[in-house]
Amino acid sequence: DTTSGPRLKIAMQKSGRLSDDTLSLLQASGVRFNLQSAKLIAHAEGWPIDLLRVRDDDIPGLVMDGVVDLGIVGENVLEEVRLERLQTGSPADYQALRSLDFGHCRLSIATRLEEHGSAALEGRRIATTYPYLLRDWLRREGLNASPVVLTGSVEVAPRAGLADAICDLVSTGATLEANGLREQQVIFRSQAQLIGRPGDLSQGQQATLDRILRRLDGVQQARE
Ligand code: ATP
Ligand code: ZN
Repeated sequence: DTTSGPRLKIAMQKSGRLSDDTLSLLQASGVRFNLQSAKLIAHAEGWPIDLLRVRDDDIPGLVMDGVVDLGIVGENVLEEVRLERLQTGSPADYQALRSLDFGHCRLSIATRLEEHGSAALEGRRIATTYPYLLRDWLRREGLNASPVVLTGSVEVAPRAGLADAICDLVSTGATLEANGLREQQVIFRSQAQLIGRPGDLSQGQQATLDRILRRLDGVQQARE
């Protein structure tokens, strides 16, 4: 019986670039919600599933701390939070369940138009919202540069004299161009992922998850 016992909790982005595609995918898989825009939690119609709508940055931690069972989030945010948690000693385990083929973007280093090559980054300041992913890449490249953390307006940092380069998400490159920046190097490629935790689901929750995964696979095959 999947209708009694603990419900399956899924965290998704409340409003942003992943929200519409997340809801469409759930809906195409037969999971419908009566969304009231102000509410944090929505209950699925006919499924033992609760949807939690939060900021995307909170989703990996909610899964890793066992507060929710599943999350739909960009791999960029997922890996940033995982690296941060590894360094601070917080739980950082999750299980990648499905790549969802939306929310595609790349995290790239960009500099003023006249500069070239990653050697030009040595000793420079790089503005970013992703200091852990950036530090990890710098370490692998053997470069010494300093991340400057900005949670917004990263692309104006060089013009404002706050940094020499940026490390930011790019999908088309139009924003970079508008700010006189050139993409130099892709450091991470991302799309949306469905994640969970290994183990600790009840039998009923596991049965619900299996049903969702079968339907998701059907939807994704039909889209190919
Ligand atoms: P929140 O209020 O939930 O924190 P946000 O402003 O951090 O939202 P969005 O701009 O909505 O986030 O982006 C959410 C995710 O969408 C990104 O983390 C990334 O995985 C994906 N994404 C896809 N294309 C882009 C893009 N061009 N720029 C930024 N993010 C993109
Ligand atoms: Zn965010």
